[in-house]
Amino acid sequence: MSEPAQGPWYRRLHWQIFVAMALGAAAGAIGGESFADRVGWIGTLFVRFLKMIIVPLVLTSIVSGVASLGGARSLGRLFSKTLGYYVLSSALAIGVGLVMVNWIKPGVGAQITGTQGAALPELSTPDSAVDLLLDMVPVNVVAAAANGDMLALIVFSVLFGVAIAGLPAQPRETLTRLFDSAFQAMMRLTGGIIRFAPIGVFALIARVTGTAGLEAFRALALYMLTIAASLSIHLFVSLPLLLLLLGRIRPHVHFRNMVEPLTMAFSTASSAATLPVTLRTVEEKVGVSNRTSSFVLPLGATVNMDGTALYECAGVLFIAQVLGADLSTTQQMVVVVTALLASIGAAAVPSAGLVVIFLVLESVNLRGPEVDAIVGAMLAIDRPLDMFRTSVNVFSDSCGAAIIARSEGESGVDEA
Ligand code: ASP
Repeated sequence: MSEPAQGPWYRRLHWQIFVAMALGAAAGAIGGESFADRVGWIGTLFVRFLKMIIVPLVLTSIVSGVASLGGARSLGRLFSKTLGYYVLSSALAIGVGLVMVNWIKPGVGAQITGTQGAALPELSTPDSAVDLLLDMVPVNVVAAAANGDMLALIVFSVLFGVAIAGLPAQPRETLTRLFDSAFQAMMRLTGGIIRFAPIGVFALIARVTGTAGLEAFRALALYMLTIAASLSIHLFVSLPLLLLLLGRIRPHVHFRNMVEPLTMAFSTASSAATLPVTLRTVEEKVGVSNRTSSFVLPLGATVNMDGTALYECAGVLFIAQVLGADLSTTQQMVVVVTALLASIGAAAVPSAGLVVIFLVLESVNLRGPEVDAIVGAMLAIDRPLDMFRTSVNVFSDSCGAAIIARSEGESGVDEA
């Protein structure tokens, strides 16, 4: 099912995806909205296939991974390393956003009012950190799975895996083998779906360029540039430095290995929809064991969102600048902390980052119709930024998996 390792470039999947992206962008720009409407369903179908496997994949990968960890001590060690990495990488991302927006000041003098806004998608957001904690424990596992409530599903799967690890040899081996086999099947299914990625990506990108309204883009051009530059710094400087310093991994090799998940994150703007591809690539190309990746990646896709964290902080400071509200250093620190929490609470689906921005705005008392109007305008131009921050989110998860695998003594990680 995997792509040919040798042979002409055009037979390699990532090149096919790149070509599909370019063709999709051109076709959407030329064909406009009518073309976007005609091919849009193909992109939707592709994303549905990816989403179809998320729940069984997360369940089987975590249960088989945690059950093979062999005890609560290894789990505790892996958990603290994972959490440490998440906080470090997100804090770095927020720091970059904070410095860039304070330096460039894209909001000062910006004329946003009157720009056509858009209605926010209805996504549920936790009201507070306590709610976030309570939501992590499902009252009904089946309902959590049915609602795509990832954090709750992850918590159950980890606990289930721990329980299996504590069983006597015979039931433990039976259950571990069962979940491991189901996981292999899910990975194979993922491989089959990815073969259609070029077609899906073509349609997804054509829809973006075909429906883009240029007016809103012009009003927010400097803001978009600031966010894009900040995300680029995190993607091409901060994360590679973490790879080098913490994992002694060559960043260019990791980038090359991660091409497919990156293009998928970019075209779907959803870390959750990309998760099957991320898991498969991090295991098969980056060379991380299932034991590590099954723990770091599903959790990372749900809570470790560097690009989103950066966006929350930069977006709120931008809105404050537009409104002429001068945020003190203490208020900016409040923004930093709530941006981290908001990125944890954001769902791994398109535009979720923009919806949770209200949590951060509330923390510094920015509210009212003017704020709503600016967020509406930001939503109108959100898709390209969302595509970019989702790629950063996914890349950071993969760096975490590679670094932690290295620290666990795994060999063969990101070997060229
Ligand atoms: N779309 C992003 C993701 O899935 C979340 C966000 O909107 O920032 O990772």
